[in-house]
Parts: sequence; C-alpha cells; structure tokens
Amino acid sequence: MHQYVIQGSTQRLTVGKIIGLARTYKAHAEDMHALVTEEPLLFLKPESAVIFSGGSIVIPRNSHCLHHEVELGVVISKDGSHIPEANARDYVLGYLVALDITARDLQAEAKKQGWPWAIAKGFDTFAPISDVVLARKILDPMNLELSLRVNGQLRQKANTSLLLYSLDHIVSFVSEIMTLREGDLIMTGTPQGVGEIKAGDILDARLEGYCTLHVDVH
Ligand code: MG
Repeated sequence: MHQYVIQGSTQRLTVGKIIGLARTYKAHAEDMHALVTEEPLLFLKPESAVIFSGGSIVIPRNSHCLHHEVELGVVISKDGSHIPEANARDYVLGYLVALDITARDLQAEAKKQGWPWAIAKGFDTFAPISDVVLARKILDPMNLELSLRVNGQLRQKANTSLLLYSLDHIVSFVSEIMTLREGDLIMTGTPQGVGEIKAGDILDARLEGYCTLHVDVH
C-alpha cells in the first residue's frame, strides 16, 4: 500500500482506488482523433501503479511506446456516493500533479479490438504522483497551470480552466457510479501535447506554484 505525502500535514492517508478520466480537454481529444462525449470516459488504474517523486517509470517488456499524460489529481477526503455538485468540495482533501502513463501501442490495439484499457494503463509505476496540496491552500482549482517538461523541454502546458467539466461535476459524476472513499484519487485527464517517453528521460511535472513531481524512465 502507498501513503500520500500531504504538504504541511502529518496526516497519514492510504492511496485508494484511482479513477482515470479521458477526453476532458478538447484539444487533447482532437489530437487523439477522439470524440468528446457528453460525460468523460472513465477507467480504473490500480493503486499498485503508484510511484512518488524520485521514482522511476519502468518500461514493460510488451510495450514499445509509452506516453506521458500530465494531469490534475483530486484526492478524496471522506466516503461519499451520489454527491451533489454543490457539496463536491466537501469531499476534496486536496490536489496533486499526476502522470497517467499509458502504453499507447497497447491502448491503440485495445481501442481497435474493443478491449478495456486496464493493461495499457495498469502496469506498475504507471501512476507517478506528487505530494498533496491541501484544498484550502488553493484559491481556485479551476485556474491552475499544469506543465510537464521532459529533459528540460516543455511538452505539455495548460490551465485547468480548459477542462470541459468542472471539478465539482467530475466528483459528482464519479460518485454516481462508484462510492468514493477517503484516499481515492481522481486523475482528471490530460490536456494537449502528450508524447513518447524513452529510457533515460527525466520528467518534471508541475502544478505551478504548488507542487512538483520528478521521475525518470528505466
Ligand atoms: Mg489520462
């Protein structure tokens, strides 16, 4: 089991299930030649995929194309289901920057065959996460600068205001499907600019002004 590191807090909190969302930024959906749906696509990523800053993404033997996806993560503070949008913030402990590492070749095959994405998204080390920034320290989570540099070069940069769905809607939407529990993590989807990472690369993901995440690729 993994435990979050919470900035400015000694609270211990175990990472629960990880809910991944897709097609939550218009420009990224267009890059992937994917249609924007009425609600975001949802998939699960195993908790065992988590690594922290200083860790290494390990390239699995059966994939030849890993992609980076920098995302805003929402950490859930207490159990809840059928949460109304108006109460969604009461269920948010804080935010972090996450990488939804994806075996793009395996995902492309899964899409073609109509198979689930569990393999493409679920390998060990495919969920690097930063420290948690407590919600009260963030003025407006819908106005955060997300960025990712690979070997010092800017690959992804976007403001969370470009999300197609509000964070309140996202929490409410997920909780209509599955009970959210304390410690669960919602990865809210990636903006434009995903691309390949290779062995030896160094990744630097940021929520500007709040937290950073440094990992390399093995
Ligand atoms: Mg993603």
